[in-house]
Amino acid sequence: MDIIEYIGSVLTDFSNPKKRVFLGYLFLTVLIALVWLIAVRRSSFKLALQQIFDRKILFSRSAKADYKIFLINRVFTMFISPLLVTQLAIATALYYALHDIAFLQRGVFSDAPIGVIVALFTVTIFILDDFTKYLLHRWMHHWPLLWAIHKTHHSAETLTPITVYRTHPLEGILFSLRSAVAQGTTMAVFLFLFGSAVDLYTVLGVNVMSFVFHVTGSNLRHSHISIQYWPWLEHILISPAQHQVHHSIARKHHDKNFGVALAIWDWVFGSLYLSRRDEDLKFGLQPSEAHPSRLMDIYLRPFVDITRILRRRFGRLRDAVERRSLRND
Ligand SMILES: [Zn+2]
Ligand SMILES: [Zn+2]
Repeated sequence: MDIIEYIGSVLTDFSNPKKRVFLGYLFLTVLIALVWLIAVRRSSFKLALQQIFDRKILFSRSAKADYKIFLINRVFTMFISPLLVTQLAIATALYYALHDIAFLQRGVFSDAPIGVIVALFTVTIFILDDFTKYLLHRWMHHWPLLWAIHKTHHSAETLTPITVYRTHPLEGILFSLRSAVAQGTTMAVFLFLFGSAVDLYTVLGVNVMSFVFHVTGSNLRHSHISIQYWPWLEHILISPAQHQVHHSIARKHHDKNFGVALAIWDWVFGSLYLSRRDEDLKFGLQPSEAHPSRLMDIYLRPFVDITRILRRRFGRLRDAVERRSLRND
């Protein structure tokens, strides 16, 4: 990897409509925030601008750590991504495995109109992708070994659109594998049932539903502009304010709103929390889990925590085995 390749890879995120921080989406984010603050919160234009570009937030210690993590994680991504199982490999393996299932007939729906196939494929891949993100995110909060990794994201004390990149590289690997499985599975099943007519219906090369998600302000999830939706809509789509609740350190907000685009999963599985206008949120970790924004801590702490958890688990297992062997003696 050379430095030119690295700089190119960093800049790609801002010029690629598949990425959340694509400059076009960031521009729309500012526009949506302005309209919200002026039209709904009755703020003046000047005050609204000051709130959106609040230096105390954009240049806080936590935000500066986010920027550095974004640049460092890019190096890990460049090294790790070629090693990961690609969705194509999973799709190919599953596609051939489906041939062995006797009652399944290849291309059974190949006569379906192309528009129907494309629409069905787009919706299926979006829903499966969003659901698996919900599941993995939920597990990351429930299982101590995974929480040790996910804690990095929650250690942010201020939220900016770059906070989405504040993740430990191990979390990046887990989410890449999840994406490969979800997308590879959908591709294989569609290719098998519908023949070769499958393709993503795209806008600027992005799945149309992800495009809508980003155009409507996905970047505001990690910001201090708490845009709320109507309560009925917060049962279906996660509003920026709902994700900010997910980052809150208040006890009553723990384990709420794991969803990314759809709130339906939270609603169905009992983790939905509707946003409230009067709530003053504080972001970060509990004092007992204090996690300074020092880069050394951010990258090494998960390994220390994982080792401690495993040692404790194996210690308990060893004690149990010893007690049992003593009893048998
Ligand atoms: Zn989380
Ligand atoms: Zn977040």
